Amino acid sequence: MSSTSSVPPFPGIKPATLRTGADLAKAGLAADSDINALDAVGAEYSISIPGGLAALIDPADPDDPIARQFVPDPAELVARDDELDDPIGDETHSPVRGLVHRYPDRVLLMPTLSCPVYCRYCFRRDQVGRAAGTPTADDLEVAYRYIEDRPDIREVILTGGDPLSLSDARLARIIARLDTIPYLNNIRIHTRVPVVLPDRITDGLIAALQSDTPVWMALHTNHARELTDEVAAACDRLTRGGIPLLSQTVLLKGVNDSVDVLTDLMRRLIALKIKPYYLHHPDRARGTAKFRLTLTEGRALVAALRGNISGLCQPTYVVDIPGGHGKTPAQDVTPAGDGTDRWNLRDFRGETHEYVDNSG
Ligand SMILES: *Cc1c(COP(=O)(O)O)cnc(C)c1O
Ligand code: SF4
Repeated sequence: MSSTSSVPPFPGIKPATLRTGADLAKAGLAADSDINALDAVGAEYSISIPGGLAALIDPADPDDPIARQFVPDPAELVARDDELDDPIGDETHSPVRGLVHRYPDRVLLMPTLSCPVYCRYCFRRDQVGRAAGTPTADDLEVAYRYIEDRPDIREVILTGGDPLSLSDARLARIIARLDTIPYLNNIRIHTRVPVVLPDRITDGLIAALQSDTPVWMALHTNHARELTDEVAAACDRLTRGGIPLLSQTVLLKGVNDSVDVLTDLMRRLIALKIKPYYLHHPDRARGTAKFRLTLTEGRALVAALRGNISGLCQPTYVVDIPGGHGKTPAQDVTPAGDGTDRWNLRDFRGETHEYVDNSG
């Protein structure tokens, strides 16, 4: 395997996490003249790039796909009219703090709003990285009782924020509490940690995730260059620890919007025993216009993958219907018929929602 791995500057010394405009400038990832502008972005949308991840960026490449995902851009403070604070409508489906119940048989539980890295395109960027809104231990107990009282709920999806940014002890308590709930078929963890902070996948963490209720994990990754030898080793520890791995990828302009990049990513995932699960059409989060492509463009990319690469390598391309109506397969949407930029999106209840696509 080629050397995509990151090497810390001195053996045993971990490169520091970048959190400010000055940190970014010192690492050669921003101009000194941009420091103030980037700190203004950081005041609105948190900044964090673990040192090992920053080391994968080629500062000489203006189109580096890792830099584009994580290095802030002053243009993030420019919001467009069609952008939303809560692009997928979580708030309208949150009966108790820290829990989102949109589909009959599964809920999202968000025990933390903190992430090891803040993706510049994040669909929850208005909430993540700040203390406000984080559920307390009492809130979590209310959420567990909500689940317990509803036997139709068969799956709890831990998300956030990133659940693996919690300590082993806190995670173990959450998993153990969920394990006491009858009727739960499985627990699922949505995380970016194995990819952006592979050293966090320790024996202690894997021990914290052991439970009679099966624990599945969906890793968020967008480019094969993120999947270094260290990440491969972390995934190996997880699969050996009995945790089946899936992936979620966000389709992002300038990061992975090409057949070759998607092919490399999906093949690398399968080689790491990770089943590609979802490819997400980018959401309309504020200040993320540079990442968005049109449904027409996304559908052409996904159609080109079909047949040309193994069926194992095929994720389902989905778009979250704005307003909280859930995900729908983007390959199945129908044009409204009056031009290429209007679509009819059918939700899982069979209702149709108009989607005007002016991302191009
Ligand atoms: C995406 C999402 C899920 C999970 O959906 P799957 O299709 O099962 O992966 C569950 N609840 C909410 C609110 C979601 O947004
Ligand atoms: S890891 Fe997920 S929740 Fe955290 S910033 Fe990235 S996209 Fe948002």
